[in-house]
Amino acid sequence: MAKAAAISLKEFRVRYSTEDACREELFRLRFPDGFVCPVCGCREYYPIHGRNTFQCRACRHQTSVTAGTVMHRTRLPLTVWFWAIYLCATDKRGISAVQLSRTLGICYDSAWHLLDKIRTAMGQRDENYQLSGIVELDDGYIGGNSHNGKRGRGTDKPKIVVALSKSANGAALYARMKVVDNIQGKTLQQIVDQYFAPDTKVECDGYRSYLKLDDIQLEPKKYEVGDLHWLHKAISNLKTFLLGTYHGRCTKLQSYLDEFCFRFNRRMTGDQVFLRLVRAVATSCGVLS
Ligand SMILES: [Zn+2]
Repeated sequence: MAKAAAISLKEFRVRYSTEDACREELFRLRFPDGFVCPVCGCREYYPIHGRNTFQCRACRHQTSVTAGTVMHRTRLPLTVWFWAIYLCATDKRGISAVQLSRTLGICYDSAWHLLDKIRTAMGQRDENYQLSGIVELDDGYIGGNSHNGKRGRGTDKPKIVVALSKSANGAALYARMKVVDNIQGKTLQQIVDQYFAPDTKVECDGYRSYLKLDDIQLEPKKYEVGDLHWLHKAISNLKTFLLGTYHGRCTKLQSYLDEFCFRFNRRMTGDQVFLRLVRAVATSCGVLS
């Protein structure tokens, strides 16, 4: 794939100033090789003028660039969606619903739903990738004070499992984070099965749940300061991210983890995050929430 060019604010304002321009961009991203009917696979269609839809020449199914995505039946203009995606992508700390509603002049509810759907698209995009090679694996605990006063694995704070792949020379590559109910072997195995490529080499501490994992090469060791360095750094950055923009909020925690990982996994792509995020939204799958 050709490297997408970065986009400045000035270019953004010129390029995506109208509904038609945004619609054309979504069409291009959703159908990179030309239109394909989602029902019968036919490649020919008629545009239905005035309704922003197109009809398949073979089966007459009507569709639009937003149908079936997280933008399905949106009442907001596409220009507002593009602004939200731009603001979300260009602010590395993330943007809150309060900030977004003020900046775009939309109500708080609309801003909240916009961000929630953008995060859904972020999470779905990363579902396409598996971690491989050497992966650090550990659990973490999010939020303020625990209610039961216990620390570490005995706490009743929300629990997450974090996996982070590394290059052969030890540099951090990609992260996945998942909210879990417990740190039992069965839960960890589900994460391994879903997120790890076969023969992944896993580095973890010697906690008993990790020792039961199958289908991976396990390298458990007694924890020492400095071990699982990148993973603990990622958890620390996640906590800062949650506190900074979202005030440590834990409702819908998974969607914040998805946002954090989407940004983390594309941290080397700089200004291209906007275009990658538009693609993620254009090719997303709408879900009821
Ligand atoms: Zn068709």
